[in-house]
Amino acid sequence: MKLKKPVKELKLSVPVQDTSVSSFLTASGTFHDGDLLLNQKGLRLISDDNDSPPQPAESKEFDLQFSLEDLETIKVIGKGSGGVVQLVRHKWVGTLFALKVIQMNIQEDIRKQIVQELKINQGSQCPHVVVCYHSFYHNGAISLVLEYMDRGSLADVLRQVKTVLEPYLAVLCKQVLQGLVYLHHERHVIHRDIKPSNLLVNHKGEVKITDFGVSAMLASSMGQRDTFVGTYNYMAPERISGSTYDYKSDIWSLGMVTLECAIGRFPYIQSEDQQDWPSFYELLEAIVGGSPPSAPPDQFSPEFCSFISACIQKDPRDRSSSLDLLNHPFLKKFEDKDIDLGILVASLEPPISFPR
Ligand code: ATP
Ligand code: MG
Repeated sequence: MKLKKPVKELKLSVPVQDTSVSSFLTASGTFHDGDLLLNQKGLRLISDDNDSPPQPAESKEFDLQFSLEDLETIKVIGKGSGGVVQLVRHKWVGTLFALKVIQMNIQEDIRKQIVQELKINQGSQCPHVVVCYHSFYHNGAISLVLEYMDRGSLADVLRQVKTVLEPYLAVLCKQVLQGLVYLHHERHVIHRDIKPSNLLVNHKGEVKITDFGVSAMLASSMGQRDTFVGTYNYMAPERISGSTYDYKSDIWSLGMVTLECAIGRFPYIQSEDQQDWPSFYELLEAIVGGSPPSAPPDQFSPEFCSFISACIQKDPRDRSSSLDLLNHPFLKKFEDKDIDLGILVASLEPPISFPR
């Protein structure tokens, strides 16, 4: 065989890099070159390791300058009644965030009020409440830059596992309760929409509450401060019936979510069969007028049954507070057992494939 003549070495002339400052400026006016970052907050050293995959933001102190132009969309990760949630990456730092975009046609004064409220809610000081890093109002939509939770929501988990065992439930409830204690006792707010899709998980087994303030925001955008947008399934009877309600309405919702995880179906239905689902009005009637669901004592530990009963009481005065529940024997029972929720979520398909 005739050997090919060695290919003549090709010389490429690489254009000289434009070193003018403008080529390093991001849309938010931040100067970035290698490990150096200069913005209004001063000069900082940042890691620019291109070999490691982008990571979700870890620190609550994360203080990047954000502009929507600094974020690139990777994919849509969820849709709710209010809008779309996308996985986005900060173009030059590589950090991942969840960007929630809520379309709303609202008047100028309500928009200002909402943005103001969002700013107050920003920067959670609790490891069990999803951090909202930034919020924008742009082109008729509110955009929230949220901490990205890479294992999706408890609703995603429940789509893959039939039931969640008691030890995992204890670890899950403890984290949700720590988030609720923060919201109820430090921030003095009621979440109003505790449900599986608002409890997010990550690969480390951390559970965090999200959408705090969002339902109130959507309601106020429609001119009625307390109109509810979303599902009524987890709503406490006093809210459905229009009575006054307080922090304890979140406790009812937590009890309903926990019981659903344990028995593998929504507690007000007998089976997952579509035929068994009550109509909207039947459901409201059952929650307000019927006896509350409970954990079957022949299938669950006395501690678990007692925990559910402490949450699902029709009279809010009979329900325990988030602070009391943190000391409940059901949580104490598994405290020193080193149960890792990360192992449970690691065994599941991630809700989305990791971007390559
Ligand atoms: P609704 O709008 O009716 O309350 P929802 O809570 O499912 O329903 P969204 O809050 O818009 O609607 O969220 C949609 C989905 O996006 C969630 O179920 C979850 O899987 C995903 N998601 C939301 N926020 C994040 C986040 N910070 N990190 C990762 N995934 C998220
Ligand atoms: Mg939500």
